[in-house]
Parts: sequence; structure tokens; C-alpha cells
Amino acid sequence: MTDHDVIVIGAGPAGLTAGIYAGRMRLSTLVIEMMMPGGQAAITHLIENYPGVSPLSGAELASRMQEQMESFGAVLVSDTVTGIERTGDHFTVMRGSGPTTARAVVIASGTGYRELGIPGEKEFVGRGVSYCATCDGPFYRDQEVAVVGGGNSALQEALYLTGLVTKVYLIHRRDEFRAHPVLAERVRAHEKIECICSHTVESIEGSGAGVERLNLKPVGEGEKRVLEVPGVFLFVGLKPKTEFLGDLIETNEWGFITAGEDTRTNVPGICAAGDCREKPLRQIATAVGDGATAVFAIERYLDDGEW
Ligand SMILES: Cc1cc2nc3c(=O)[nH]c(=O)nc-3n(C[C@H](O)[C@H](O)[C@H](O)COP(=O)(O)OP(=O)(O)OC[C@H]3O[C@@H](n4cnc5c(N)ncnc54)[C@H](O)[C@@H]3O)c2cc1C
Repeated sequence: MTDHDVIVIGAGPAGLTAGIYAGRMRLSTLVIEMMMPGGQAAITHLIENYPGVSPLSGAELASRMQEQMESFGAVLVSDTVTGIERTGDHFTVMRGSGPTTARAVVIASGTGYRELGIPGEKEFVGRGVSYCATCDGPFYRDQEVAVVGGGNSALQEALYLTGLVTKVYLIHRRDEFRAHPVLAERVRAHEKIECICSHTVESIEGSGAGVERLNLKPVGEGEKRVLEVPGVFLFVGLKPKTEFLGDLIETNEWGFITAGEDTRTNVPGICAAGDCREKPLRQIATAVGDGATAVFAIERYLDDGEW
């Protein structure tokens, strides 16, 4: 006899969706979240590409998903999962408050930010270096800031910051943005954004008060530049939050779980849903799809052991 039928690790869009589907299947479901329900989506100021409900704030979307999940009986707790062990035909999930058992597990632990690894970055985190515009943007009201990156997150957050600051320098190491064309067009046309392409940030400098300047160097030909800004937002990629799994689950060389579209991992009874899974597109729409698919796979597994 286990404590639960299913344990879901992480309450971002993937985990909350798994909770909705599992609760609705009348499976006893525990969802464990170490930070804030909604995950990365909860800190996104405006979501305009989630079908049917856009545009709305990520916090609002997360709160609606959580409410919907709890209405179907899944229980959300605040705790950190530190490992999973297979014990006979069930799993023991280790967490801060002690072990909890379940017949199946959905890993929906998402991703965290990737660091640039340049001098000054670690030193000035929280004092001018940020990885979250929604959280820290208001500190720079009516000042100039820099954003580093060329993907969707970087461009989206640069646009968000224009509502707060006087100017955004958008620094990207290539000459073309990786982001969706609609975002790239908006960024290039925005009067408050100056794009500094084909440049990287060499170092971040400042004083006890915080960041004061960024030293930029060109990729190939071009001139070095110094930007006098009190804040820099870094959006240079994602790394999966899968270290707590140890060797139990197969991952690729970057740590993303190598489950297929059916979300089944190499361990029968454990599915991987959302951004922590190896996949071509990491968005809310794809995360919720995974959450639903994972419960479909688990339901069949619990029913007849099919994997
Ligand atoms: C700045 C930014 C803007 C974005 N804008 C959009 C957008 O406009 N539209 C869109 O579709 N997508 C957007 N995305 C992407 C979208 O937010 C993600 O694809 C989505 O949140 C992934 O959901 P997830 O549930 O897989 O992971 P996450 O949202 O990362 O959630 C994972 C959760 O698991 C928890 N967790 C991790 N490890 C543990 C552990 N050991 N124990 C307990 N809990 C754990 C984390 O705390 C987290 O809450 C944006 C992302 C960023 C960073």
C-alpha cells in the first residue's frame, strides 16, 4: 500500500496539468513544488500565445491552473524533492519532510537559467545582475538597462522592460535573433530598444552599490564598447532541473530527460513532462500537452503494467 497513486514533482504548467488529469481520473495525487506554483510561467508578465485565454499574466494563468487542479482533488505541498528510489513495485520520493511513496511518478521539474560565466556575474547577482525581468525590472524604473540573449525569453523580457525603463540595450552574440519573427520585428521597431548584435559581454563591473558598467567585445570585426548601466538581465539559455534524479533516469548530455512524445522514461512508472524533457519547443502549450500525456501513460501502467 503506497501513500499515493501518483506523485508529481514540480507545479509548473506541466505538473499542474498532470495534477488536473490525475485528479480527474480519481487517482490519489500529490504535487510537490519547491518554489512557487506556476513555475517559469508564473514569473512571465504577459502570455499572449496560450490558446483561448491570452493575453493574461503568467501569475493569473498559474493561479487558474492551480485552482482547477485542486478542484479535482490533487493535493499541492511545498517541499523539495531530493531523490527517487525504486522499491519493489513502487517508488519512494525523498523530500525535505521525509519519504513519501507512490505507484507512479511524473517528473515535471522544468528548467532554470543558464549562467554566462563571466567575471562579475556571480558577484553582482541581486545587485544589478538579474535573471527575471518581472521580479527585478521595477528597481530600474526611469533608468537604462541591458538585456543579454537572442531567444524568445530575451526579446519578450526586453519588450516588457520598455514599459519601466528609459532605454534597453539588447546584446546578442549573433547578427540574427533566434526568437519568433513577430518578437524580432517588434524589438527592432521599438524606439526604446537599441540592438547591439554580434557582441558579447566580456565582464560586469561595479562597486559596493552594485553594477555600474558592462564591457562588450565584438564577435569578429568591430569595436569594444562600454555600457554604463545599473542593471543587466541575462537570458542565455536553460538548464534542466534534473540533478536530483542521480542515475535513475536516462538523460541526454545536457541533463534533459530522454523520454519520447509519450513522456515515458526508461523506468516503467515514471514519466517526464514539460521543459525537463528533451524536446524541440519549450512553451506552456507543449508543457501542458506533456502533463496530460504523462497521466494517460501512467493510467495505463497502473491499470495493466503496460509500458
Ligand atoms: C522569461 C520567460 C518568459 C516566457 N514566456 C512564455 C510565453 O509567453 N509563452 C509560453 O508559452 N512560454 C513562455 N515561457 C516558457 C514557459 O514558461 C515554460 O515552457 C513552462 O513554464 C514550462 O513548464 P514546466 O512545468 O515544464 O516547467 P517550469 O515552469 O519550469 O516548472 C517546473 C517547476 O518544478 C519545480 N521544481 C523543480 N525541481 C524541483 C524539486 N526538486 N522539487 C520540487 N519542485 C521542483 C520548480 O520550482 C518549478 O516550479 C517563458 C519562459 C521564461 C523564462
